[in-house]
Amino acid sequence: MNHIPLVDLKAAHAEVADEVRAGFDRILAGTAFVGGEEVAAFEREYAAFAGVDHCVGVANGTDALELALRAVGVGIGDEVVLPANTFIATAGAVARIGAVPVLADCLPDTLLLDPQAALDTVTPRTRAVVPVHLYGQCADTAALTAQLPDRVALLEDAAQSQGASRDGRQAGRGGIAATSFYPGKNLGAYGDAGAVVTDDPERAALVRALANHGGTVKYRHDVAGFNSRLDGLQAVVLRAKLTRLAEGNAARRAAAARYHDLLAGLAAAGRLVLPVTAEGNVHVWHLYVVRIDGTSAQRDAVVGKLNAGGVGAGVHYPAPVHLTEAFAGLGKVRGDFPHAEQAADRMLSLPLYPQITADQQQQVVAALTDALG
Ligand SMILES: *Cc1c(COP(=O)(O)O)cnc(C)c1O
Repeated sequence: MNHIPLVDLKAAHAEVADEVRAGFDRILAGTAFVGGEEVAAFEREYAAFAGVDHCVGVANGTDALELALRAVGVGIGDEVVLPANTFIATAGAVARIGAVPVLADCLPDTLLLDPQAALDTVTPRTRAVVPVHLYGQCADTAALTAQLPDRVALLEDAAQSQGASRDGRQAGRGGIAATSFYPGKNLGAYGDAGAVVTDDPERAALVRALANHGGTVKYRHDVAGFNSRLDGLQAVVLRAKLTRLAEGNAARRAAAARYHDLLAGLAAAGRLVLPVTAEGNVHVWHLYVVRIDGTSAQRDAVVGKLNAGGVGAGVHYPAPVHLTEAFAGLGKVRGDFPHAEQAADRMLSLPLYPQITADQQQQVVAALTDALG
């Protein structure tokens, strides 16, 4: 069998190669290496795509989270609620501010933040809640906004959900969201990149200032800031890929539907739990995450067999935040977030990208059927 990668970045590049080269030539001729017209154009185009008023390009998704947290007023010692089942950067951004990550469990079906669990952790020190739109579908932000006290901000981690919507609303609309353009994301740059999107002009301006040494006018520094800017070369790549993102997301949906069909037998036999889409969601399938009925050792064995056979399966993520060495200091133990823990033990991600073929998917399913024994 030919190798089937988890994500096929070569196939993605082939579609935009000519545009990217032409754009790189423009940048080299004009030397707008940091910021500049390509970045401004991308920000406008991404804001339009995301249905928000403002997009501020930054250096990566983790910075986007941190800057957005700062823009909503999170500071040292504040509590920030986030799901135990997420990529570690959600917690890392909170920790870098000197704020305290407070974890909440996920829902057992979608594996997205359980809004009630999140609300239950709110204290007078809570400053923000960060739902994560994991795997490509939106967590239930409406349930949070309806019940959170006004002093608690909502920041959406939309790193895995570019183009996804829930009840017709995309991340950041009416609020603020952070996203990542890491190469493997649905909209991926050729290096690190990220953005903050919001309808709030003041927050957008604050993020822009924080990301640019505390000001937007050269040598005028209004706040103590950082350096987290988007560069022109990445903007060229992102602009070219953005024109194909909706189509790519649709292709991911079609591929996910095909996996659903091909895996229906294993699911009916209780061998596999298939991903669940929450009502009202337009899912963009950043990852197709299935769960086996077994232990983490059995899951690791299945992933090992798939990888040995040329199928690029992965695990997103093998440890919930509280069971990582980095966040052991939070004092949470196994048993505190049972849904996230069980999911981490049982889940694996199958190859999924816009260019995956039906034949490749059949090969993946044949290999998985074999590996499950
Ligand atoms: C990728 C990702 C991030 C961080 O983005 P980087 O660009 O790698 O810093 C944050 N949260 C989630 C859920 C992610 O998937």
